[in-house]
Amino acid sequence: MTKYIFVTGGVVSSIGKGITTASLGRLLRNRGFTVAPLKLDPYINVDAGTMSPHQHGEVFVTEDGAETDLDLGHYERFMDVNCSGGSSLTTGKVYSAVISAERRGDYLGGTVQVIPHVTNEIKRAILALGREQEADVVIAEIGGTVGDIESLPFLEAIRQMRTDLGHENTMYVHVTLIPTVGPWQEVKTKPTQHSVYKLREIGIAPDVLVCRSEVPLPNDVREKISLFCGVPPQAVIESTNVETIYEVPVIYEAAGLGDFVVNRLNLESRDANLSHWKALVETLKNPKLTTTIGVVGKYTSNGDAYKSIAEALIHAGIPNDSAVQIKWIESDSLENDKNPVDALAGCDGLVVGPGFGARGIEGKVAAVQYARETGLPFLGICLGLQMAVIEYARNVCGLHGANSEEMVENPAYPVIHLLPEQKHVTDKGGSMRLGSYPCNLVNGTLAAQLYGASRIEERHRHRYEVNNDFREKLQEHGMITSGVSPDYRLVEMIEVPAHPFFIATQAHPEFKSRPNRPHPLFEGLVRAAVEKKNAVATSVV
Ligand code: GLN
Repeated sequence: MTKYIFVTGGVVSSIGKGITTASLGRLLRNRGFTVAPLKLDPYINVDAGTMSPHQHGEVFVTEDGAETDLDLGHYERFMDVNCSGGSSLTTGKVYSAVISAERRGDYLGGTVQVIPHVTNEIKRAILALGREQEADVVIAEIGGTVGDIESLPFLEAIRQMRTDLGHENTMYVHVTLIPTVGPWQEVKTKPTQHSVYKLREIGIAPDVLVCRSEVPLPNDVREKISLFCGVPPQAVIESTNVETIYEVPVIYEAAGLGDFVVNRLNLESRDANLSHWKALVETLKNPKLTTTIGVVGKYTSNGDAYKSIAEALIHAGIPNDSAVQIKWIESDSLENDKNPVDALAGCDGLVVGPGFGARGIEGKVAAVQYARETGLPFLGICLGLQMAVIEYARNVCGLHGANSEEMVENPAYPVIHLLPEQKHVTDKGGSMRLGSYPCNLVNGTLAAQLYGASRIEERHRHRYEVNNDFREKLQEHGMITSGVSPDYRLVEMIEVPAHPFFIATQAHPEFKSRPNRPHPLFEGLVRAAVEKKNAVATSVV
């Protein structure tokens, strides 16, 4: 029998429900339970694929090619599981299913309503995930804040699930804010009380309160929260700010959350093995070195737009015993003065990241050129690979006017062009080359060396690719194809062997990096950056 934990948020948005859900999953994974995470998103988009990274942050891609909310990235990184598209449910998906069923006549003349038809569809999807993943526990995070109109059908569905499945098989975790006010930093519980009243109004009484607070909760405050909110004191979990998000599971375990959940759901009591996780948290908190990696992107004004890249870089610091400081560089800004030196000075390595559309791409090209010419360790990701190819074609192969068909109409040399299967695509949603694809690595290349394998699989999200007509020309001039699709049709990875570390991938390796298993490309980049920094330091001495 699968158990179901539902995580809601109160008082303010961005309170850290995603990290709480992910951390709770880690506690259960430490005990050897199978966990299936799920994000319930109240927005009407069918998936996050059509949403702007400026507004919504990164689009996270699963192995099976679903374009989802970035919280799935947290789940995968903390729990070390691969989510499927079934781990993301939106209002858009729910209504699409209900309306299709209505058109087929499945409701046999009934009037289709939010309760029971929409709530039944939500419950069906939640239960299906538990069944398909054979999960001991499903942890479902409900997006938005309690009190939002649009999350009501989801809350009603999870309320019904208590009745359907019983107390022992369902539990509600509410993440809330305990603000401090005034000159004496007085801790205030009223917003939390109100948020819990709001939940109770819809028929949900929380079992656990995770209290985000700037300061530790005094005992009397904890007791007050317990009394007013009807939650036992040991289930009032204090969550103060931490140096690294990966410390959150350690804090929750110390606060007794793991044992509380296991007892409450009547799961088998097992030892929680946290030693490996604690060790990586220690390295993250006390690294020997600091390395600065510049990340050139198009959406750097939203700190979440490149979430997985930022996390992959932090993970890559662990085996290198280095903190990784990220210097965000908006590609537009490199375009204006056409001189990336100032922005890139002080960087020990460079990532040129993913993106769509023409804005700012000349800034990306300029950044690649700087890295190539100065020996700065470089990793290009998706659009970053395409920009590296354009830069090389123009400045090394002499193909002036080389560009991508995405950026200009009829470029002089279309070194990046539309994938054949994309030529007749009209609907933008869910229609890119998405999800995991295999790639063969060429023996003796940096790629093969870093991965330590000859065949790999990475997740993709793109419409354009390297034009094979230019492969030979690039190769002749020193840019080699180090990864190809097994049918030799698609360039998956390129590199410049004459450079100390210059590599790019058409895929999104950032989605597969985990703190306990940093991704080889990011690990290699940070290692090369550390070496470069050391070499500079030695030459100065
Ligand atoms: N815009 C490019 C393409 O569609 C790159 C996409 C990306 O960086 N994810 O091919």
